[in-house]
Amino acid sequence: MSGDAEEAGLAATFRRLIVNTGPISMLQYMGEANARYYASRDPFGSAGDFITAPEISQMFGELIGLWLADMWIRGGRAEPVHYVELGPGRGTLARDALRAAQRFGLRPRIHFIESSTALRALQLASVPDALWHHDLSSVPMEGPILLVANEFLDALPVRQMVRVAGGWRERMVGLEGDRFVPVAGDRPMDAAIPDDRRNAHEGTIVETCPGAAATVFEVAGRLARQGGAALFIDYGYDQVRYGSTLQAVRAHRKVDPFETPGEADLTALVDFATMAQIAQSRGARCLGTVGQGYWLKALGIEARADALAKSSPEQDAAIRAALDRLTGDDQMGSLFKVMGLAGPGWPEGAGFA
Ligand code: SAH
Repeated sequence: MSGDAEEAGLAATFRRLIVNTGPISMLQYMGEANARYYASRDPFGSAGDFITAPEISQMFGELIGLWLADMWIRGGRAEPVHYVELGPGRGTLARDALRAAQRFGLRPRIHFIESSTALRALQLASVPDALWHHDLSSVPMEGPILLVANEFLDALPVRQMVRVAGGWRERMVGLEGDRFVPVAGDRPMDAAIPDDRRNAHEGTIVETCPGAAATVFEVAGRLARQGGAALFIDYGYDQVRYGSTLQAVRAHRKVDPFETPGEADLTALVDFATMAQIAQSRGARCLGTVGQGYWLKALGIEARADALAKSSPEQDAAIRAALDRLTGDDQMGSLFKVMGLAGPGWPEGAGFA
């Protein structure tokens, strides 16, 4: 066994658990690995493991702030109004969005939902006025919410089912010698598979994310009751698909998700079609799900890039590179999607055709 003490810690715990009680669910593996991963570090930026859109350029957060201000203004300028962000990372998106929104008179109360104490400290430095919560339940019920979640749902643990000769089983994590490997559980799980997917051929994997479903269910309920709007931005898909989408990133490289639990960022693609269905079933409206590049361009990111480059000509190349990274089809432009939700009676959202 190699690696630092922390890695040995979670990997050793998992190994002991599996030896003593048998394979653990993928849900538990991913959930505990990410809780450990985020609790102890700042994973963002060139010195970290990965970089997110708000860390690439201020333009990203600014356009989100403008979108929210536009919704708030056309929604009737309600007060009080709450800015709610799920998993705010370093607080960069919130800082940029709130600065842009303020120019249009939007000065919301700020609520951050964050589980990592290391990241809460960084968020406090970026946005000193924020209030922190463990989950949505303590966010006020009075006044509309303007909610943002960038690369949040993809960090929540997935559950996987696999079709074997005898039917469907939960896909678990077991041990082969010292190595973690996916294995089929021994309890029948056919009842957990929707009828139209039950007859898939052997080896088929169906992945769901109970935490993402629960989050969108709760946000939609708040929108239906309090009004407001929400943006969920993530790497994801819009059509039914099969297979595991679990992946791990460490130091800007893809690594084996089973190699160093707790030391690499584990993510899974977001199933946007299912999220939209859940939101609508709770009485919220889905404004649309579009590619990030399309959405940012519709909101005027190119004009914003021109303006920034004009005021800082020495930054011109860096601004163009950031624009391409955020919007290019071969970059984050198509794989990343933006899903807009709103309360009943709230306006259509800019950028969702
Ligand atoms: N939105 C930020 C960070 C994305 S990384 C950005 O775009 O840069 C995922 C974020 O969600 C981190 O802040 C992480 O600590 C937080 N997070 C992950 N799982 C969480 C959970 N179950 N509850 C609350 N926050 C969580």
